[in-house]
Amino acid sequence: MSTRACSVARCDRPHRRNGLCDMHDQRMKRTGTTDDPARKTLADRFWEKVDRGGPDDCWEWTAAVNEHGYGVMRPEGRRTGPGIKAHRVSLMLAGVDVDSLVVRHSCDNPPCVNPAHLSTGTKADNSADMVARGRSPRGSRSGASKLTERQVAEIRVRQAAGELHRVLAAEYGISRVTITNIVTGKTWRHVTTTKAA
Ligand SMILES: [Zn+2]
Ligand SMILES: [Zn+2]
Repeated sequence: MSTRACSVARCDRPHRRNGLCDMHDQRMKRTGTTDDPARKTLADRFWEKVDRGGPDDCWEWTAAVNEHGYGVMRPEGRRTGPGIKAHRVSLMLAGVDVDSLVVRHSCDNPPCVNPAHLSTGTKADNSADMVARGRSPRGSRSGASKLTERQVAEIRVRQAAGELHRVLAAEYGISRVTITNIVTGKTWRHVTTTKAA
């Protein structure tokens, strides 16, 4: 009995003929290649999990997200271990070299993978950006990006004057939690009512 294995990478079935195991030999005869027809390219695996909208819309990742709301996907052939961030994959597939760079969202929407909303920057750019937007580096998905600094200041003034969170939330199109975060200073800490009012 031969101990020689099939020559296809990662196949450890015993060799039968033509350098291949039974399965690969038959597949080669049938399809002209030893590639698994069910195996999808990275682009296939990526785009089937994206809710694509119009060119200017956010295209949200519909599969797993990490604790910060960023889409994640498993590297090819791996079921465990760290995932790769979907928005990074999006730019990679668009031909952008993202190595050692951070990928930033112009829309501030973590699950978005629309390459038109993504750009690369250094880590320093990224923290300056987060400070400017009043977001913590932990990246809570506050929805704060829908608002301007002026609106945030208005919300604080109106809440202090006794307006209900429910009313403010409806008027600004944001959640009551977002209102609470704004008035308690959990988000938009850099906006002071005296400065902006
Ligand atoms: Zn094989
Ligand atoms: Zn977006």
